[in-house]
Amino acid sequence: MSTVLDTKQEEQGERAGMTRRTFVKGAAAAAVVVPAAVAMQSARTEPVEDGKERADLEKYRTLGGWVEKPDDMQPALEGDVSADVVIAGAGFAGLSAALELARQGAKVVVIEREFPGFGASGRNAGYLAGAMGLEYDLMFKGIGKEQATQIVRYYDDAVGFVEGKFKEHDIDCEYVQSGWIRAGVHPSQEKKIREEMQIGAEHGHKSEFLDQAQMRARGLPPAFLFGEYTPTGGTLHPGKYVMGLRRAALRAGVKLYENTPLLSYTEGPVIQVKTPRGSVSAPVLMFATNAYTPQLGLLANKVVPLQISAIETEPLSKAQLASLGWPRREGIITGHYSMESFRLTARNTIISTVKRIHYPYGSKTPNVPVYDQYRELRTNLHERLPILKDVALRHCWTGYVSAAGDALPVVGATGENKNIYYTAGCSGHGVASQSMVGHMIAQQIGGTEPPLLAALQHNTPSLPPEPFRWCLINGLLAGANTLDDRVNRKVRDAAA
Ligand SMILES: Cc1cc2nc3c(=O)[nH]c(=O)nc-3n(C[C@H](O)[C@H](O)[C@H](O)COP(=O)(O)OP(=O)(O)OC[C@H]3O[C@@H](n4cnc5c(N)ncnc54)[C@H](O)[C@@H]3O)c2cc1C
Repeated sequence: MSTVLDTKQEEQGERAGMTRRTFVKGAAAAAVVVPAAVAMQSARTEPVEDGKERADLEKYRTLGGWVEKPDDMQPALEGDVSADVVIAGAGFAGLSAALELARQGAKVVVIEREFPGFGASGRNAGYLAGAMGLEYDLMFKGIGKEQATQIVRYYDDAVGFVEGKFKEHDIDCEYVQSGWIRAGVHPSQEKKIREEMQIGAEHGHKSEFLDQAQMRARGLPPAFLFGEYTPTGGTLHPGKYVMGLRRAALRAGVKLYENTPLLSYTEGPVIQVKTPRGSVSAPVLMFATNAYTPQLGLLANKVVPLQISAIETEPLSKAQLASLGWPRREGIITGHYSMESFRLTARNTIISTVKRIHYPYGSKTPNVPVYDQYRELRTNLHERLPILKDVALRHCWTGYVSAAGDALPVVGATGENKNIYYTAGCSGHGVASQSMVGHMIAQQIGGTEPPLLAALQHNTPSLPPEPFRWCLINGLLAGANTLDDRVNRKVRDAAA
C-alpha cells in the first residue's frame, strides 16, 4: 500500500488535502480491516430465511417510520419562476431557513425532490440533543480551544432554539424533555465515557455522571450500567416536527414545490436552477440537501453519505412497560464507537438505531432495505432489553446522514458570486443543529452573520478519491465495529 502511495496516489491524496501521514495511517488501517469491512458492512438486500426474524425484517419501509406522504402534496414546479432565494431540500435545515427568510420578507421558493421528511429529517431517532456524544477526538484536532468551545455551544444552544420553535409555530411533536444518557453496557466503557465527559465539560457542556446506584434509582433497564446524563433536550416525533415546520412555512407564504428535484444550476449573479419541468431564477441558492449534496456536484470531496438504519417494535403492553421500568423515558445512547440508541415513543414502541454504519461506494444514496443492519439492530435490542424478545417489529428503515473527515459541520458559501450557500456534514447529530444552522444561514443571507455561524468556519479536509475512499471509510468503520464487538462479547460472557 505504501509503494502505491509513494507515487501517483500519494500526490492525489495530498492534492485532495490529506497529509501523507493521515492518508497512510488511514489507508494502512483500511488495508488491515477492509476484508472485515467487506464481510461485515456490505449492504445486503435480500431478506433472511428464519420465520420470526424474517417476518420482522420484512417490515421494511421505503420511508422513515415517522412520516407518510402529506395529503396536501404541493404541486411540482411547472414553468419558470423567480424568487429572492431558492432553497433545495426541505428537511429541518431547508425549512428552518425558509421560515427565517420569509420572516425577513424575502420571496422564498423551496424545491424538494419528494416531500419534507423524505430524508434524514423523517428517518432519525428523534433525540433533540446537544453536544454529548460528539466525536470530540476527531472534531477538535485541527481547531483551537476557543473555536471548539463555540462549536460545543452551537450544539447545546440548538436544543433551546428548537424548543423555542415548537412554541413559535405551535408544533406538537410529542416532545418529552427527559434529558438523555450516554450509557455504558460494560465496565470497560467507563473510562472513555468519563474522559469524553471531561472534554465536554472543559468546553462548556453541562452533564453529570450517574453511577450504578443512580441508574437503578431512575429505574433504567439493567443493561445500562452507568452513564453521562445531560438534563437538557429529550425525545420528539421527528415526523410531526418536520411536518409542523412544513405547515408553518406554507402559512408564512413560502412557495414549496414537492416532487421537484434540482437537476442542475448555473452560476452567476442570478442563479438558474433547472428542475424536470421548469426552472427557478434567484440571486441566492441554498443547498439544504445534506447527504444528497455530493450527488448534485457540490462538496463531493468534502462530505460523504453514511447509511444508518433504525428498527421500531410494536407497542408494548401495560405489563411489558411496567416490567421494563424506565419511567422518565430518557433517550439512551451507548458509549460504543458506533453508538447504539434506544428510546421509548409516545405510542409505547421502542426505537433502536445506528450500531452499524456503511459508506456506499461512489457516495450513492440508494433507497433500499439493508437487512444486515436490521438484523444486527434486532439481535442487539433483544440482548439489551430481553423483555422485547417476544415483541414483533413494526418497522425497519434506512436513511443517510452526511459526514466530513473531521466530523465538523460543513457550512459556507461558494460560486463566483459567493451566492451559493450550503450546509452539510450533520454527522448524525442534526435534529437540533441542522434546524438552527438553517436559520443562521438565512440570517447571514439577510445580512447579519450570527457569531455561532462564524465559529463553524474552518478548513474541511478533502477526502481521497474512490476506491481509496470506500476502503478507508468502511475500513475505519469495521475497525470501530471490531472494538464494539469485543465489548459486546464481554457483556455476553459476563451474563453467561
Ligand atoms: C437513522 C437515523 C437516526 C438519526 N438520529 C438522530 C437523532 O436522534 N438526533 C439527531 O440529532 N440526529 C439524528 N439523525 C440525523 C438527523 O436526522 C439529520 O442530521 C437531519 O435530519 C438532517 O436534516 P437536513 O435538513 O440537513 O437533511 P435531510 O432531512 O436529509 O433533508 C434533505 C432533503 O433534501 C431533499 N433532496 C435531495 N436531493 C434533492 C434534489 N436534487 N433537489 C431537491 N431536494 C432534494 C431530500 O429529499 C431531503 O428531504 C439521524 C439520522 C438517521 C438517518
